[in-house]
Amino acid sequence: MTIDYPARRARLAAALPAHEVPALLVTSPVNVRYLTGLVSSNAAVLVRADGSALLATDNRYIDMTRALDVTAVEAPDVAGRLAEPGAGIEAAAMSVATFRRLNAGLNAGLNAGLNAGGGEGGGLVPLGPLVEELRAVKDEAELELIRTACALTDQAFADVLPLIAPGLTERAVARLLDNRMTELGADKPAFDTIVAAGENGAIPHHAPTDRELRAGDLVTMDFGARYHGYHADMTRTVCLGEPADWQRDLYDLVRRAQRAGRHALTPGAEAKDVDAAARGLIAAAGHGDHFRHGLGHGVGLEIHEDPFLGPSRTGRLEDRVPITVEPGIYLPERGGVRIEDTLVTREGGPELFTKTTKELLVL
Ligand code: ZN
Ligand code: ZN
Repeated sequence: MTIDYPARRARLAAALPAHEVPALLVTSPVNVRYLTGLVSSNAAVLVRADGSALLATDNRYIDMTRALDVTAVEAPDVAGRLAEPGAGIEAAAMSVATFRRLNAGLNAGLNAGLNAGGGEGGGLVPLGPLVEELRAVKDEAELELIRTACALTDQAFADVLPLIAPGLTERAVARLLDNRMTELGADKPAFDTIVAAGENGAIPHHAPTDRELRAGDLVTMDFGARYHGYHADMTRTVCLGEPADWQRDLYDLVRRAQRAGRHALTPGAEAKDVDAAARGLIAAAGHGDHFRHGLGHGVGLEIHEDPFLGPSRTGRLEDRVPITVEPGIYLPERGGVRIEDTLVTREGGPELFTKTTKELLVL
C-alpha cells in the first residue's frame, strides 16, 4: 500500500483558511515525515493554502528528497529558508529563540523592501496542533503498519514467555523482549520497555532494575514494536506460580475494566465516557485511588498522540483512530496489574490489534 502524501498536504491546506494564515511552516520532524515521507532530524515543509508545498533539509538528507513527490531545497537553516510573512508556525515545535530570530529576519527583510507585497502583519503566527489533528484519523496504509507492529509485539511475547522464570532480572526480561522484537523485523522498540516485578508493579512507569523475579510475583510487562515508524503498545501482567486470592481478584477486576473500556470504544463516543466505562468499575470496587492515569492514548507515528482518554479529556472519537485501553491498579508496596491493548475504532465495533490472551497467565 502506498501513502498518498499530496492528499495529506491537501487536507492540511484546506484547514488553513479557518486559521487565517496563507501557509503553515511545519517544523515538527514527525509532521514533516507525515506530510512528505522524509525522515530527517533537520527538515521543514511550508504548505500553502493553495496546496503547494516546499520542503527544506540540509545536505545530509537532500539526496533522499529526490524520491519524494515534493519540491525540495537544500538549506542548513531550514525554517529560516522557508519562513514567510504571516505564515503560521507549530507553536509546540518551535523554540522561543527560533521564533524571535525568524521574526527578526522577516522584519529586516520587510524594512529593506525585499518582501514588498508580502502582505500586512509580517510576523509568524503561532498555531496549535493542526497536523496532529489530521494525524489522529489513519488511512488504511497506516493501519496496516500498526497492525504489523502489533503482530510483531504479540509474537515477541509468545516467544519470550517460555523463558520467563524466577532468577531472571527485570532488565534481562526487558532485553529479551527488545531483542526478539528487532529480530522479528521491528525498527526498534516503540519506547523504553517496562518490566516490573512484585512490589515494583505498584509503579506504573517503573524502569527495569536488577531485581530478580521470584515465585509469587505479579510481573507487568509494557512494551511494543515500532514498524516503519508506526508504534504498537501492549501490557500484560503474568503471575509466577499460583496466584494468591488478592492477586487473582485484582487481575479479574482490571480485566473486566479493560473489557468495559474496549466495548465503549466507538466512533462518536466522548473521550471521557470511554474512560469512565472502565474507571467506574475500578472505583466501585474501592480502588479509585489506585488508578491515577488516563485510560488510553492514540498511537501512530508517535507512541503517545491524540486523542487521549481521561476523566477530563474532551472531544469525541472518530472512525479509524488507533488507540490504547490500559487500566491498571497499583497497590503501594504490594504490586500492580495493568492490561493494555492497541485497537482501532470502527463503525460496528473496534478491531483488536494486539491479540495476546488476557487470561491470567500462570508461569
Ligand atoms: Zn504501554
Ligand atoms: Zn500505552
